[in-house]
Amino acid sequence: MIDNLPPLREVIQRHGLSARKSLGQNFLLDLNLTAKIARAAGDLSNADVLEIGPGPGGLTRGLLASGARKVVVIEKDERCIPALEEISDAYPGRLVIVQGDALEIDVSHHLNTPVKIAANLPYNVGTALLTNWLDPPEWPPFWESLTLMFQREVAERIVAKPGSKAYGRLSILAEWRSEAHIVMDLPPQAFTPPPKVRSAVVHLKARPEPLYPANPAILRTVVAKAFQQRRKMLRASLKSYDDIERKLEAAGIDPKARAETIDLERFCALARQLDT
Ligand code: SAM
Repeated sequence: MIDNLPPLREVIQRHGLSARKSLGQNFLLDLNLTAKIARAAGDLSNADVLEIGPGPGGLTRGLLASGARKVVVIEKDERCIPALEEISDAYPGRLVIVQGDALEIDVSHHLNTPVKIAANLPYNVGTALLTNWLDPPEWPPFWESLTLMFQREVAERIVAKPGSKAYGRLSILAEWRSEAHIVMDLPPQAFTPPPKVRSAVVHLKARPEPLYPANPAILRTVVAKAFQQRRKMLRASLKSYDDIERKLEAAGIDPKARAETIDLERFCALARQLDT
């Protein structure tokens, strides 16, 4: 027992929180498990935590019980708000509840550094949120670390290395700006209702500066073009750039190579060649 609040099944029943597929609702009801995810976020005692999609509040309770200074939650489903207010009453002054769409709302005025982000993300918006957090207008970002639940397949794309099928835009962006690891694996039965696929928690720690120098917009565009047709030779997929064969060679890349074999260091070298 991590707090004196009622079991989550009771909370869900009392507030009529039947899971909605359209909102990606697969709830975690085991408070031992949510406490474990909160621990994976590291020491929270001096941090503000931003949580997206708290639902009935299982992870929220884990984060508060593990000592987070403050937890700010953004939840789209208004049915969940009264349940979250009960948690706020149990932890006076430490939980800020914001109702709305996490892709649109800015809650930075509620947060003080250091900020850690933790979430069992709705699968339909998880990748968009991650990309926004990894690619903000300024670096370093407002957050120090991200501890996020994804479908296992997305988690594998985040940590993938060159030469693997999962390697692509997300792997390159994640490695460029963070240190990313899969820290937990969860079977479908850990959730209510169980999703069709396995899930995994990924921990990403923001690098103080990107691993290699490159203009973010140029790197983003060249990587997107290179992976649009991942089986094509780079000299073909990047032919819209002037003088591309020479620039590929200058970046140490064989123009006949394919995107999936090129590591981050070389993509950054190519972005620098294109930045003239
Ligand atoms: N954190 C809870 C847990 O672990 O049991 C719920 C996780 S559930 C996978 C995803 C949650 O995100 C749901 O509560 C859903 O209503 C909420 N959600 C879905 N889309 C959202 C959005 N765009 N912004 C904020 N919350 C969203």
